[in-house]
Amino acid sequence: MKITFWGVRGSYPVPGAATVRYGGQTSCVEIRTESGGCLIVDAGTGLRALGQKLSREGGVPRQFHVLLSHVHWDHIQGLPFFEPAYIPGNRIAVYALLTAADELDQVIGGITRHEFFPMPLERVPAQFQFIEVKPTVAMDIEDFHVLPIALNHPYGAVGYRVDADGTSVAYVADTAPFHEVLHKQHFLCGLEPLSHEDLAALAAMRAGLVAALRGVDTVVYDTHFLPEEYKRFPHYGHSTPDQALEICAEAGVRTLVLYHHAPSHSDDQMDEVAERYRQLGKAQGIEVVTSQEGMTLMVGAQEPR
Ligand SMILES: [Zn+2]
Ligand SMILES: [Zn+2]
Repeated sequence: MKITFWGVRGSYPVPGAATVRYGGQTSCVEIRTESGGCLIVDAGTGLRALGQKLSREGGVPRQFHVLLSHVHWDHIQGLPFFEPAYIPGNRIAVYALLTAADELDQVIGGITRHEFFPMPLERVPAQFQFIEVKPTVAMDIEDFHVLPIALNHPYGAVGYRVDADGTSVAYVADTAPFHEVLHKQHFLCGLEPLSHEDLAALAAMRAGLVAALRGVDTVVYDTHFLPEEYKRFPHYGHSTPDQALEICAEAGVRTLVLYHHAPSHSDDQMDEVAERYRQLGKAQGIEVVTSQEGMTLMVGAQEPR
């Protein structure tokens, strides 16, 4: 398997002089098997360039699979600009949590309403299909075995463990650490003490994540915040590289990929983050790679990258 990063930012796109090297587009990765199987995970603004590449590959009509972690803007905003959607005969399956999938045609339809966009979803030539995912209920999609993982993010999000070609990769975005309940609500957390049920639910969610990541080769993780930033915004639903390292160390992961970078982090700052966590990871026997737009990683490669 190999994984290509088409957008590595969180929250909103930040193209410009300060982000040329790490990239300014929002969350989108492409996972390919040796035999050409293709999964798209998240549909942020990075999806636009991926769609152009997939169109050039030809093979019309074609089936595409887009796994969504959740439907915050930075994970869906590329969908209206996905070129294969404008090719008649193509089919695009979009996978999401039920809370999102129940309304997903309205969510996507909403962002393509005539006030916002010239082509409403119902007039797009390709055929869209919305499929519910449930945490812990695995799916077989083309060559891939896919396990959705519950995450701690406002109104819920799912990560995905993907097994194929005798190796595994996981995509864990967006998630906060497991100190506060974020998956049920927005902004209410932290205002009152957690109940026993809340604490048990958080502990179960964390244990479920560690179990799902057990022995995974490469884990792409939401490391939006640096520790000093996290202290100021603990309820925004994102993690730090330290929190990701802790989870990956427990799970015996080989490579951690830092991902969903804060839009405020310049290339120079990202260089410092990359080196700092490369060293910290090395001390724990984990290779830490910092994702950059356009980067391709071979999953399961045994040589240092
Ligand atoms: Zn996000
Ligand atoms: Zn989010």
